[in-house]
Amino acid sequence: MFQEIGFELTRRCNFRCLHCFREDFGPQDISLPLVARLLKEAKAFKVTHAVFTGGEPTLHPQFEALIDLVVSEGFTYHFVTNAWTFQQVHPLLLTPARKAALRGVSISMDGATEETHDSLRHPGSFRRIIQAVSLCRATGIDVVAQMVVNAKNRHEMEQMAVLCGSLGLKRLFFAHLEPTSPAYTKNTIDQGLTLSPHEWRQVEAEAARLASLFSMEIRMSVGYHEAPLFQCRTLSLYSINVNYLGHLSFCCQLSTFTESRTGKDVIVDLNNTSLAEGLGFFVDEVGKLQRTKIAQVAEGRFSDNDQFPCFYCLKYFDKVPWLKDYQESPWAFEAA
Ligand code: SF4
Ligand code: SF4
Repeated sequence: MFQEIGFELTRRCNFRCLHCFREDFGPQDISLPLVARLLKEAKAFKVTHAVFTGGEPTLHPQFEALIDLVVSEGFTYHFVTNAWTFQQVHPLLLTPARKAALRGVSISMDGATEETHDSLRHPGSFRRIIQAVSLCRATGIDVVAQMVVNAKNRHEMEQMAVLCGSLGLKRLFFAHLEPTSPAYTKNTIDQGLTLSPHEWRQVEAEAARLASLFSMEIRMSVGYHEAPLFQCRTLSLYSINVNYLGHLSFCCQLSTFTESRTGKDVIVDLNNTSLAEGLGFFVDEVGKLQRTKIAQVAEGRFSDNDQFPCFYCLKYFDKVPWLKDYQESPWAFEAA
């Protein structure tokens, strides 16, 4: 229970990916003293690992100091990145203490070709990823590739596995593209990126097929079709998630999702609440969500689409109200 604490370090990002679930961007960063306090409080619960997400976490102006904070408190860590800044960040990771505590880097990679990846994420970013992976390989840093599968890249799943294998990666995770509506572009349905629930199942089958063919670890990230009371790392009380404002958020997948202003995922403001108090409320909220599911199953109101747990959470926390205007979409009925 509670082994990992995730910090959404910043609202900054140098990309505007077509499917991003962040609603807006800006120079807002989590405060260092707050992270320092929360790490100390988390230690009392035997939390041992820290995760940095964003936005693009390496753009936090005190990214290096944050690493040192985590390391000095005795935590291990990893971070998620789009790899654009990696050439500058990489040397920072190599001091003996920082390197010893680093458990790896998770790089978002949305196509096996430069054309596909760059069209979805940022021009020139595919090449920077290849450079970043080479730097990691040369210095013994583990890399996980994470591909969000959509209508425009799903044909490259196998090619992605081949590419990752040739780059020497040990792990490749595929993730479903949840319906999102970034403020700066059309929503993913209008962009033709969203797959249907049936296609999601096909993606899961393809990931399983590839996993059986390749020696590297290949799997779906959470969000795949599961039993109603499936417990992800959040619902099994493994992960604690803190957003860039210092709020305890129900889950990192929700903390900055479109329509985050509704804030239903925010449990407490940790700037003026202890972590222990916040975790008590969090456990209550997890129980509430699971009891809601149990009631829906008992009443026959738990649909097949509800078995995609992250999509269920998006509805539960009112993150996709815009889907109600898309009655022709297989997801719209579910959101209504
Ligand atoms: S998906 Fe990640 S890299 Fe892309 S715009 Fe959003 S936060 Fe930035
Ligand atoms: S969105 Fe819900 S199901 Fe998905 S990881 Fe978060 S808590 Fe778990």
